[in-house]
Amino acid sequence: MSRIQVLDKTFEIFLESDAIQRRVKEMAQQISADCAGTRPLFLSILNGSFLFTADLVRHLTIEPEISFIKLASYKGMRSTGSFTTAIGLDVDLLDREVILVEDIVDTGNTLFQFLPHLLQQQPRSVRIATLLHKPEATRHPLTLDYVGFSIPNKFVVGYGLDYDGWGRQHGSIYQLAAE
Ligand code: 5GP
Repeated sequence: MSRIQVLDKTFEIFLESDAIQRRVKEMAQQISADCAGTRPLFLSILNGSFLFTADLVRHLTIEPEISFIKLASYKGMRSTGSFTTAIGLDVDLLDREVILVEDIVDTGNTLFQFLPHLLQQQPRSVRIATLLHKPEATRHPLTLDYVGFSIPNKFVVGYGLDYDGWGRQHGSIYQLAAE
């Protein structure tokens, strides 16, 4: 399908499923090489990264531990800004090699706010694997260790990413079509 309709918006094909699969396999090979001899904890950030995580771990040649979390943002009552915490984080991170698995890094706000919370638990290392990155939109100095595709600053759906809860099921990724 070259175009899909999701609610009131039309999206056009951006990354074909085959290209995504090839790149995800390469990422898994690179992570496996970098983490040889260790058992990293893959912390997959729901909802968007469920397909990416499933495909990524299938190509690993190391033995991973895999867990899923949701991030929630709270506005402080007095403080400026908000903080982000993890729901469902039930693994002890002390001394673990952690790989955060994200669908997309846009402004970087979510990860930037969550990282201090994670580091409090004293993991041995934290690396970030994101399928997509919008460099033009990112406003924080995040080190992204594994990036599938750097993409322009346009809204995308498919392969786990939604528009208002719709469109996650597609194997390809679509970007908002010009009006
Ligand atoms: P950030 O905190 O980096 O700005 O945004 C992270 C979250 O915003 C992502 O995990 C994702 O849920 C959402 N997001 C950012 N850009 C897009 C996009 O182009 N499409 C979709 N579907 N979600 C996005």
